[in-house]
Amino acid sequence: MLIPLSFLGLFCTAGAALGALCASTLNQDVSAEALLLGALAGALSHQLYGCAQSERLSAWAKQSIDQRSGPRALRAPQVGVSGEIAYRVEKNYRAYERSIRSEGDRLAFFLSAIDASPNGVLLLNAHQEIDWCNRTAALHFALDPVRDRLQPVTNIVRMPEFIAYLREGQFDDAVTLRSSRFAGKLAVIVRPYGEGMLVLSQDVTERDRAEQMRRDFVANVSHEMRTPLTVVSGFIETLASIPMSDSDRQGMLGMMETQTQRMQAIVADLLTLAELEGGAMPPLDVWTDCHSLLARAADTGRGLSAGGHDISLQSGPLCELAGADSELLSAVDNLVSNACRYTPPGGVIVIGQRMTPAGGVVIEVTDNGPGIAPEHLPRLTERFYRVDSGRSREHGGTGLGLSIVKHVMQRHGGRVDIQSELGKGSCFSLELPPARVRRDSQPVGAGQAVQAPTR
Ligand code: ADP
Repeated sequence: MLIPLSFLGLFCTAGAALGALCASTLNQDVSAEALLLGALAGALSHQLYGCAQSERLSAWAKQSIDQRSGPRALRAPQVGVSGEIAYRVEKNYRAYERSIRSEGDRLAFFLSAIDASPNGVLLLNAHQEIDWCNRTAALHFALDPVRDRLQPVTNIVRMPEFIAYLREGQFDDAVTLRSSRFAGKLAVIVRPYGEGMLVLSQDVTERDRAEQMRRDFVANVSHEMRTPLTVVSGFIETLASIPMSDSDRQGMLGMMETQTQRMQAIVADLLTLAELEGGAMPPLDVWTDCHSLLARAADTGRGLSAGGHDISLQSGPLCELAGADSELLSAVDNLVSNACRYTPPGGVIVIGQRMTPAGGVVIEVTDNGPGIAPEHLPRLTERFYRVDSGRSREHGGTGLGLSIVKHVMQRHGGRVDIQSELGKGSCFSLELPPARVRRDSQPVGAGQAVQAPTR
């Protein structure tokens, strides 16, 4: 109120002064009438000025936000009541704009966080139309977030189980979907909120596969144990119920012992696998001499073969391997024992070692046994996978040996490679990475034979 009054006063005073000036210019006395007339003229000018300012304020206020920042923008009144109003409006508008921007930033922050989620998030409006979805949901449901916006979800996601799930409206449990577009299995759950729905999706392909592996594993173990257990319990029944000669009894006890040993071997291999899966990672600073490792494996092979095979050792440069000595030995032992078991008597088995160009080490166990058909090669390291179950059992095999070898190599950052040709023989290689190999200062030279200790 102070500004309008002072402004009016200013105009009136200026008017009165002008009246006095006019009177003196016309050589008249500066009378009260002249002053009053001047003041009235000043008040009228104030009124006219006020109207012009209001017009300007109104035109300024009417221009859109885009126009306001454009080159032809109207300037707000700077003085008087209109100037004051324009100043306050502009100030409030800027504050409002700032708060909108900060809300927008927060929204963008939340949306980008949801977008980064490994789970799918899909928002449906009250008509079950797609409102928004994050990247994962777009992948899971094969959606285009822009093109499919405001499309009925059941027109786009055409999985029958999903449509039935939405129609039934029972959202307590998740539904599992298998989509042809998304190569995997999805667990989807709906949470109604406000008038819309939140559809959450999760890729459960790996979890499902692990669950299936666990089921297969339990089934395999049960199957493996059931046969010897059935044999042993049958023998016990026979021994308890039928009188028999000492030699028959001895024969039966011998067969029972074989079956018991088989169960023991399976349990021992299962425990080894469990230890490998749950145990601490092999050290990087405990070194094992590679030649001595191979010599020990050759020794075990000779003991197993009992002179039935020609087992030789061909070592490459002297080197040391970092890791768990017992695990590395068990891996090489498994390969050597397989070579002895599957290669007919008189066969040749060579245990070799060479350096890779990158500085790693490859340990090879080669035999001239029956070989393995190519279709079996990719599955040989699976648990309980055998080419010929009968033959494997005959040789005391558990079907877990190569699986143990693969685990040991994985734990040491290495890998297993199998080359084989039917009728010609097989070569099993274990490759250890350069980080686990230390060269001796005096290399022996590739291909040089190292005398293995004889039994
Ligand atoms: P197993 O206890 O049956 O030997 P492994 O996992 O050690 O189990 O081997 C899996 C299968 O691979 C064996 O059953 C056998 O059929 C095949 N196999 C492994 N080593 C050889 C080999 N040196 N020569 C031929 N077949 C082999």
